[in-house]
Amino acid sequence: MYQKGRAWIELNMEHLKHNIRQFRRLLPAGCALMPAVKANAYGHGAALVSKALQEQGIKSFCVASAAEGIELRRAGISGEILVLGYTHPRQFGELAAYRLTQTVVDASYARELQQDGRYFTVHVGIDTGMHRLGERWDNLDEIVKIFQTPNLHVAGIYSHLCVSDMAGEKAQEYTLEQIHHFEYVAEELHRRGFHGFKCHLQGSYGILNYSELCFDYARAGIALYGILSGKSDQVNAAVELKPVLSLKARVESVKMLYQGESAGYGLTYSAERDRRIGILSIGYADGVPRNLSNRGLVLCNGKIAPVIGRICMDQMLVDLSGAGSVKAGDEAVLIGKSGELEIRAEDMAQWAGTISNEILSRMGERLERVAVN
Ligand SMILES: *Cc1c(COP(=O)(O)O)cnc(C)c1O
Repeated sequence: MYQKGRAWIELNMEHLKHNIRQFRRLLPAGCALMPAVKANAYGHGAALVSKALQEQGIKSFCVASAAEGIELRRAGISGEILVLGYTHPRQFGELAAYRLTQTVVDASYARELQQDGRYFTVHVGIDTGMHRLGERWDNLDEIVKIFQTPNLHVAGIYSHLCVSDMAGEKAQEYTLEQIHHFEYVAEELHRRGFHGFKCHLQGSYGILNYSELCFDYARAGIALYGILSGKSDQVNAAVELKPVLSLKARVESVKMLYQGESAGYGLTYSAERDRRIGILSIGYADGVPRNLSNRGLVLCNGKIAPVIGRICMDQMLVDLSGAGSVKAGDEAVLIGKSGELEIRAEDMAQWAGTISNEILSRMGERLERVAVN
């Protein structure tokens, strides 16, 4: 077990490999995984995770920004790296220098790339109904013009589903419409003589709920890390995913809080009876949501320790009265297993009123990331 550090993330690489196998079994032959390793691989650590993925034979990755792509190149990632977001024209040189594949976010962006004078490999974003990035699916003439832009090598087109996580007829109809719009664009491009470009549409929920689709890539994010966005989410595919990340912190000090005393900023917690409390070396700057003050739970010694008082930037307080003989130097588990108990990222997200994607992607910079097994 890892014994240093004030607060850290443990990555279960066996679980990551397991999840990759589950997705490969689920996806049709010919559809390759293109993991989303943006936002520091959803907080897991982009370099560590991407190298592990590369060792498992993964050759395509997607990131949010050119800077994230550069980090992967510097970590030794050699395959295709697709930048899903906007890159400023002044950074176009970096796209070329680091062989990053840029998303064409709309037709006018293609003209900006052309004006730069350098040659770029791109995927064209197609807006099929989310109305975020991408040229509108029904502006076929504009899409064709992007394909005809002399300095662009269009290696792919892609779109993004916005309600594929939702059950219910309306959401399913909308998703089917998005799928049809996307297929229409691909077919029209083929009909007009453009060939050899890849097509991709599904993120995690697109894979898990519409696994019969057969595109060239599947951009798995959250589910590849072994968790779902929401605790009550149901998916169609029969997959067993295992969480990769555990979040742990040190118990810095253990002390008494006597009946009637209050603790922490604002003195928002008062002891109704004598309490044994622990001070943990982790806080909201590490990604623990501050709104878990007086409501979150952590695990210590295989027991539950409720969060008491306000979560601080670098520290937090927990009630150890029910946790047995915890002492300074022991570890506390904020996400992961302790004895028989487990707190999942989905639990923390639910307590904080958000989705696990946000919890994970906000894991702090200063947490050490350690691969176990
Ligand atoms: C983040 C992102 C993904 C991955 O989404 P998950 O739901 O985490 O699988 C896929 N595609 C695009 C365009 C994204 O922005």
